[in-house]
Amino acid sequence: MAGCALPAPASPWLARVGDAMRRHRGWIVGVQWTVLAAYLFLVITPAFLPLPASDASLWNDLTRFAQFAFWGIWWPFVLVSMMLMGRVWCGVLCPEGFVSEQASRIGLGRPVPRWIKWGGWPFVAFIGTTVYGQLVSVYEYPKAALLVLGGSTVAAIAVGLVYGRGKRVWCRHLCPVNGVFGLLARLAPVHFRTDRAAWDAHPLKKVIPIDCAPLVDVRRMQSSAECHMCGRCSSHRGAVQLAARAPGVEIARLGPRDADRWEVRLLVFGVIGTAIGAFQWSASPWFVQAKIAAAEWLVERDAFALLGDDIPWWLLTHYPDANDVFTWLDGLMILGYIGVAALVIGGWITLWLRVAGRVLGDADAHLRLAYALIPLGGAGVFLGLSALTVTLLAAEGLVLSALPALRGALLAAATVASVALGALHVRRAARDRRRALAALLPFTGAAAGAIVPWVTMFYVW
Ligand code: SF4
Repeated sequence: MAGCALPAPASPWLARVGDAMRRHRGWIVGVQWTVLAAYLFLVITPAFLPLPASDASLWNDLTRFAQFAFWGIWWPFVLVSMMLMGRVWCGVLCPEGFVSEQASRIGLGRPVPRWIKWGGWPFVAFIGTTVYGQLVSVYEYPKAALLVLGGSTVAAIAVGLVYGRGKRVWCRHLCPVNGVFGLLARLAPVHFRTDRAAWDAHPLKKVIPIDCAPLVDVRRMQSSAECHMCGRCSSHRGAVQLAARAPGVEIARLGPRDADRWEVRLLVFGVIGTAIGAFQWSASPWFVQAKIAAAEWLVERDAFALLGDDIPWWLLTHYPDANDVFTWLDGLMILGYIGVAALVIGGWITLWLRVAGRVLGDADAHLRLAYALIPLGGAGVFLGLSALTVTLLAAEGLVLSALPALRGALLAAATVASVALGALHVRRAARDRRRALAALLPFTGAAAGAIVPWVTMFYVW
């Protein structure tokens, strides 16, 4: 990050928390083994049980409990934790990162090849798992959850067994949510901060390596995006400490060379565009109308192949006992809806970001401005995931009457945060006040692309 001498408030108690994480590493490892055992039990066991009865509750049915634990609590609130505490989940609790690191301790220890370091993996993996999860109804059925979550865990172990020595090569380069977590962690008001001057001035010249599992260059660390907040480097050379900072300051101070094109694509077309399509299709009247029109068109032409539903459950949702079976047409329509949503929403946002960049007279300004949309991206994914939480709670008889107001408040807060970050960017980049205001206008147009679809889904349909 350019020119980033952060005036963070002194927070000695936070520094002590970081040091305690380093000193009590054994406790953290104990927690990780416990979480791993609970995760494996909840992801494997329900897949071998019959589907729950229609009146099953999360209090008396393991499958319902696991569904609520994974998709109602774990997934939405892990995302929230990224924005509040950075990637503490990754470094302290995540069973997949932990087991990949353990595998890497006993594995072949090969160096990380170039293909694994390709910057597009977070984009491809996020979109791939998000779309595939919709096709197999991962939130609904335990076999699909075992395939998606368990498959990811098996891949993480396999990568650990081949590459790195006690490192998290999987997390750093291939985990499907690594990119999303990295984006959201940039907002967090706490981080491990390296004081480069103190590091270089330390009297000990001998280099003592840090066991940083996600392979962060701790000496040069200026961003929270890759740090798993494990605490192992706390107080190293008297230069690294857990510290507070203003929320979003890392984004507000992005320098010209800090924006990454793949990260921006992930945010604009993935976290915003694809996620909206994935959460929206099942509630969309447009989807239903388009599907009926397509089915009628096929029937009129005696073309029934796409209306067939004899499809394995691991390709498309197929649970006849639950009256939930997708046809080939359903699969194609879901792919089409998510694809069109991603392209239209992502394209709209990109267009207006580029216009703002043009107004600022800087060819790459649109990339830095895109990061200002992280609060809206994070809030949107939380809203989408928490819709399932709400549905599961409603099935238990718990109805949140204040839900529309809560959703509105969250969207409004995220909008204010994104526009404020955008305003900070354009003020820094613009030569004068008039140009800054002129650039802020198209930026708000871009932000609208991340707001209007959620408003339509929650308040219009
Ligand atoms: S930089 Fe590495 S060692 Fe330090 S807290 Fe982050 S993940 Fe842990």
